[in-house]
Amino acid sequence: MGKGTIVCVDDQRLVLISLRDQLTRLLAGDFDIELAESGEEALELFAELEQAQVEIPLVICDQLMPKMSGDELLTRIHRKYPKTLKILLTGQVSLKAVVNAINSANLYRYIAKPWDETDFNLTVREALRSYGQDKQLTQQNEALRKANQNLEQLNASLEQKVAERTTELIEANKSLQQAKESAEVANRAKSIFLANMSHELRTPLNAILGFSQLMSHDSCLNPEQRTNLDIINRSGKNLLELINDVLEMSKIEAGRVKLNQTSFDLYHLLNSLQEMLHLKAADKQLTLIFRRDPNLPQYITADEGKLRQVLVNLLGNAIKFTAKGSVTLRVMTGGQGTGDREMGEMGEMGEMGEMREMGEKIAEQAKSKIQNPKSKISTPLALLFEIEDTGPGILPEDIENLFKSFAQTDVGRRSQEGTGLGLAISRKFVNLMGGDIQIHSVIGLGSRFRFNIQAHLSRAENLPRQPIHQRILGLAPDQPVYRLLIVEDNWENSLLLTRLLTSLGFDVREAKNGQEGIALWESWNPHLIFMDMRMPVINGYEATQHIKATAKGQATVIIAVTSSAFEVDRSEILSIGCDDFVRKPFQKEVLFAKLAEHLGVRYLYENSKPSAALEARSTTIGDQPPKQTDRYSSTTESLQEMPQAWISQLHQSASSCSDQQVLQLISQLPETHTSLAKVLHDLAYNFQFAEIVKLTDLAKQS
Ligand code: ADP
Repeated sequence: MGKGTIVCVDDQRLVLISLRDQLTRLLAGDFDIELAESGEEALELFAELEQAQVEIPLVICDQLMPKMSGDELLTRIHRKYPKTLKILLTGQVSLKAVVNAINSANLYRYIAKPWDETDFNLTVREALRSYGQDKQLTQQNEALRKANQNLEQLNASLEQKVAERTTELIEANKSLQQAKESAEVANRAKSIFLANMSHELRTPLNAILGFSQLMSHDSCLNPEQRTNLDIINRSGKNLLELINDVLEMSKIEAGRVKLNQTSFDLYHLLNSLQEMLHLKAADKQLTLIFRRDPNLPQYITADEGKLRQVLVNLLGNAIKFTAKGSVTLRVMTGGQGTGDREMGEMGEMGEMGEMREMGEKIAEQAKSKIQNPKSKISTPLALLFEIEDTGPGILPEDIENLFKSFAQTDVGRRSQEGTGLGLAISRKFVNLMGGDIQIHSVIGLGSRFRFNIQAHLSRAENLPRQPIHQRILGLAPDQPVYRLLIVEDNWENSLLLTRLLTSLGFDVREAKNGQEGIALWESWNPHLIFMDMRMPVINGYEATQHIKATAKGQATVIIAVTSSAFEVDRSEILSIGCDDFVRKPFQKEVLFAKLAEHLGVRYLYENSKPSAALEARSTTIGDQPPKQTDRYSSTTESLQEMPQAWISQLHQSASSCSDQQVLQLISQLPETHTSLAKVLHDLAYNFQFAEIVKLTDLAKQS
């Protein structure tokens, strides 16, 4: 746009010229000046200038003109050109015209004729400055408005984008949530399946293992029967191992395996492993070497069970797959190691310093990765284990695969043993213990499995009391007759428990479900209840809660017997009031130890006096039960009262291990001989025919 134009309107030509000259002087060519001699001409001029897009900042107009007065003209101009500033020139002051022009034409100023040049100049200059400012403000406003509009548009599109993105996110979240929920449902289903499967499989296995164990004590077995029994027992154990492996792996996959750190004797663990594996190695004429760093601490805190399982697996594999030579276990603390020797360069203890680097790295890791910051366990300890064999070796391409579930190499498949789960489980366990497993192997020379774990130093006084592993022969004399109640729906398991416990001299009764259990507990007042947790009618949980809700129940020890696969069940079981927990299939030693722990029961051990440790802990519970008398001293006398023919028959039946015939003969005993009947019944029930033979021998002799 060009220069602006100032329009001057006056019906007197002279005035117009004078105005133009003065404005030209004042504005020095910054604006054009156009003249009009009447209102009509002025309006035409405005229309032309508008057409030519010329800006008109100012109109100076005379008031007194023929046809159209100044205020009327300015009013008309204002309607079309509100921005143009208006100055009115008047001869005599016509107030009315000025007021009209102010109201209708937004008059900027009026100037009286004849005007003072300075005053006129100041007014015009001020008007132009004001117009310029207005214009600038308008432009700025426009720019701001546009910016604002852009911003609003941007905002709107941003809001839309945010809304779209939010919807997308909500959708994504929804499907994630759904996926998570279905994964959880699947996981729960898997856990339930596992728990059920574990129950279903372990329960019959418990009976197989338990009864074959019981029968192996029977002196009447001939060698063939003993071999068969051994096979049953061994196969049962293998099956249990397989079930345990599959369950363990599933538990790991379901994220249910937790670190269970306790203080234990590492030397004892290593010695017991050596003892256990020694025969296996000797059978194959392999040398089994255990070497431990002289500075290896004896008492540590770690997950003993998992460490033991990893070592058993790796050492077991080494022995299993090595045909000749040796299997070596080395145990070191962080800061030591045997180095990355080539296979075949077997390291002695003196060489253990060679691989300081790896050990140091582990020690560093141990410092920075203290597993459980809440525990009071203090000094971290990095342990390094190395199992080296002189076996067939593993191909490099097979090594990583071996850690996958069910992976076996040719050697493994040919051995027709194992599940291919051992290494996968071992690696998961080692990872859980804060380490990893590495394999170095050379075909034809052997394999070396190395793993590290993070442990903590401990002290002997932190160790839990160890159960006594000597063979228990019976109850020590001078003890109360303990009443034990077995609440179990599975009759084989109930029978097994009853036989185990009656064989030692406990008074045992059985209940088939929680309801019967509660009734017997009320009427018979047992000292301790072995409570199966899953049962019909009333399950173990409800029965325990019912019993423990009473003052009398508080004094009754309840030990939960369960075959659940999950560790978490333990805390649930203890939280409902059970005093302790045994898992099926149970070791009878564990059961007996629990009875010692909770009732203060004392035992007679093979080649030993009653255990001092257990004796010291002997306690009495509740009312004082009658003293146990020597069961057998009166039995012989009682037996002698029976006819000799009957005694001979009993002798014969017992010698031929016929429990049916023995029970049949017992049923013929008169009512006066119920205690004899009970003793004989217990013996027959527990396959202790040799004892019956002994008793009948004594009765016949006298
Ligand atoms: P399993 O021993 O039950 O078959 P593992 O997962 O423990 O399962 O081992 C997987 C496979 O790895 C074995 O079947 C065998 O092929 C191979 N393997 C493991 N240890 C050794 C070893 N010390 N020497 C040679 N091969 C081994």
